[in-house]
Amino acid sequence: MSETTYDLMILGSGPAGLTAALYGQRLGLNVIVFGDIPGGSTYMIQHLANFPGYLEEISGTQFGTMAFQQAQREGAFFTMTRLDRLRHEAGLFIGIDVDGQQYAASCAVVATGRLPKRLAVANANLVGVHFCSICDGPLYRGKDAVLAVVGNDNTAAQHAVSLARIAKKVLLICRSEKLAMDAAHQNLIGKQKNIEQLLNTEIKGYRGSGVVEGVVVSTTADTDRHLAVDGIFLAIGWRPNTKMLDLEVEKNGDGYLKADQKLMTSFPGLFAAGDVRETDMWQVLTACADGARAAKYAAEFIETSISSS
Ligand SMILES: Cc1cc2nc3c(=O)[nH]c(=O)nc-3n(C[C@H](O)[C@H](O)[C@H](O)COP(=O)(O)OP(=O)(O)OC[C@H]3O[C@@H](n4cnc5c(N)ncnc54)[C@H](O)[C@@H]3O)c2cc1C
Repeated sequence: MSETTYDLMILGSGPAGLTAALYGQRLGLNVIVFGDIPGGSTYMIQHLANFPGYLEEISGTQFGTMAFQQAQREGAFFTMTRLDRLRHEAGLFIGIDVDGQQYAASCAVVATGRLPKRLAVANANLVGVHFCSICDGPLYRGKDAVLAVVGNDNTAAQHAVSLARIAKKVLLICRSEKLAMDAAHQNLIGKQKNIEQLLNTEIKGYRGSGVVEGVVVSTTADTDRHLAVDGIFLAIGWRPNTKMLDLEVEKNGDGYLKADQKLMTSFPGLFAAGDVRETDMWQVLTACADGARAAKYAAEFIETSISSS
């Protein structure tokens, strides 16, 4: 066990974790951060969109590196390792990293993000397979592109509608025979003349050498068919990263951590921030806002615990 007992243990070095570290240190807390990549998922962002203040283009990696350096400059301690388990013993959170090293803290913020589900098909890693239409849709602006959206729920509908404003045509490809979206979303889809719905259609593989050029699909009616597309947007779900939690914590049906107004989970002293939390927007800006608030309320929690003991 490390000799220091930290005030705040942060799981994740993405925008939520780094902002929690920055605010935590500036609020006078002694902060330790677990995580592998400085900036978390932002390394996947070619050009950071929807973040005010940057007039020149900035990549996610640049943003993540600067946020990392900023938190480090304030004195946060980064282990640069992932946490294998988080438990709670004798009033403290005990984090055990992947090398078996143990650390203790009074409070913890889970900011471990989420991973997009991918299709296990041929050529799965081609350039041009995306998960975020708000972020990557603009790459196809002005290119007369044909884009595929894979999925059948409200999220898939939102991707299809936003991409239909950019692309020449959007193919909404869905394995089931019916769309699983609500009436309002079906209505939106119906109004967009350049969205074509392909139901009962399963993706068997992606085509292209290096870059997406098409998809191979099969339907109940015919054998394999090749469709030319310039980009593929997957909306087949996400997996929040919560496996390391050895604690009873309330989650919603999709596995996201539930939190109250102060971002505290059902486990006292354990906070959730960013994409891993049950929310309605998964962006860098909202993750940062969560991180700032989680640190503030963690500090408040520690203060209240001290004054009532
Ligand atoms: C391709 C793509 C493009 C995007 N473009 C934009 C954009 O232009 N603008 C925008 O606002 N948003 C964009 N987003 C969304 C944005 O990246 C996320 O909303 C944001 O990164 C969420 O921040 P986070 O800190 O909650 O999680 P993340 O950034 O996912 O960070 C979580 C970190 O926790 C780490 N972690 C997981 N498990 C553990 C563990 N056991 N121990 C320690 N660490 C762990 C992960 O490895 C990761 O580094 C994009 C997302 C993708 C996938």
